[in-house]
Parts: sequence; C-alpha cells; structure tokens
Amino acid sequence: MDLTFLIQTKLKGLGHLMSHNHDFKLARERMVKNQLIARGITDERVLQAMGKIPRHRFIEEALAGEAYNDHPVPIGEKQTISQPYIVALMTEALELKGKENTLEIGTGSGYQTAILAELSSRVYTIERIKSLLVHARKLLAQLGYDNILFKAFDGTLGWKEYAPFDAIMVTAGAPRIPQPIIDQLADNGRMIIPVGDRYTQELIKVTRKGEDLKQENMGGCRFVNLIGVHGWAD
Ligand code: SAM
Repeated sequence: MDLTFLIQTKLKGLGHLMSHNHDFKLARERMVKNQLIARGITDERVLQAMGKIPRHRFIEEALAGEAYNDHPVPIGEKQTISQPYIVALMTEALELKGKENTLEIGTGSGYQTAILAELSSRVYTIERIKSLLVHARKLLAQLGYDNILFKAFDGTLGWKEYAPFDAIMVTAGAPRIPQPIIDQLADNGRMIIPVGDRYTQELIKVTRKGEDLKQENMGGCRFVNLIGVHGWAD
C-alpha cells in the first residue's frame, strides 16, 4: 500500500476519534448541567466526577450515542446502567468525602463503581453475573482505577472480611433491606438502597448512629431485581 495513503487513512481515523471524543465531552457537560444541576444535585465532587468519567465507554459501541441521555441503557444479561440523575442522587446521598471504605452491590457495567472510586478511598464491589464483573474489571483497569476490589458473589450477604463500611450502595431493587448489609454498616455510615416490589421501589437512605438506624425515603424509582439469599428468588 502507498505510504502516503496509509498515513492519510490513519490520520482520518484519528480525526474521527477526536471529534467523537469532543462530542462525548459536550454531551457530558450538557448532562451535568441539564439533568443533574437543573434537578438539584449540588455536591461539587459528584458533579465533577460525572463530568469527567467517560460514561459512553461503559456501554456497547452500538448504543454509545445513548450514553448521556436521560434514561437507563441496556448493558447485556438483561441488566441496565442506571439513568444519570439516579446515579447522581444515590451518590450524593452517601456524602462521600474521600476517606471512606465503600461497598457497592451490583457492579453492572462498572460506571457507578468508577464514580465511587473517584470519591472514596477504596471500593469493594460485588456482582452476581460473572461476565459483567469480568468486563467491568477489565475496563476499570484500562481507565487506571487501582482502588477497587471485585467479587463475583451474592451481594445480599455483603462482604464480611472488609466490613464495616462507611458507605454502602445497592444498585438493584430489594424486597427489604438485607440484614447482613445493615450489620456491615459502620457507625455514622450511610447506605442507599431501592426497596419495594419487583417493579417499583422507593430509594431508602439509612444512617447508622450506634444502634440507631434512621431511614429516609428519597422518592420512587425503578430498578432491576436484587437476586439472592436476602433478596428476590431468581
Ligand atoms: N450500577 C451499575 C452500573 O453503573 O452499570 C448498574 C447496576 S444494574 C441496575 C444492577 C446490577 O445488580 C446487575 O448487574 C445485577 O446483575 C446485579 N445484582 C442483582 N442481584 C445481585 C446480588 N445479589 N449480588 C450482586 N449483584 C447483584
């Protein structure tokens, strides 16, 4: 092949990639402004993390154009990456300052994991579908995250070896709050979990003060099912 032609073709490919990345950056800025700030998300660290993390990389290429839209997107295995606003609302509720040991149940695509890894000291993430976990682990390593531990397991049992956790996020809908997870929440720790029936849930924030557990309802939502010993049957 003619060398000039080869170089031109390569440069053209690079040009497309750069303009794509530029488009995604603009879409991300618009997402932060119109979907998050406009609806009341104020935590600067959450806004910065979501303004920085390439959400389109966590979605298969054919659907990448949908990454910054105001809805969940399929990620395979009948699972979804959550709507950006819900991701922001749940993350903000954890009040992360940077020093936390955080447990995430439901790794999925790994997008939420990346946000938690930006905002906490260490993230322990559990996913019951091994193929999703393997894919997320590879991508998060490629993106340079080195403060995440992964486990293919039933997250309704928590991760006892590393408990207690300062923050816990459950990203699938539960029939009730799994007792092992409550037991693994540290003093002054915060947990956010969707609780309800198989189709609709309420986002519940739990704050522990010693033996006292305060519960707040943060509004309605719709998640895939949390399946496990202390969740739904498969
Ligand atoms: N936060 C994810 C993201 O950013 O892509 C989306 C999570 S998706 C809405 C819910 C995930 O929870 C699914 O991947 C599902 O397989 C997982 N899941 C359901 N029950 C689980 C359990 N008992 N333990 C661990 N993961 C579970």
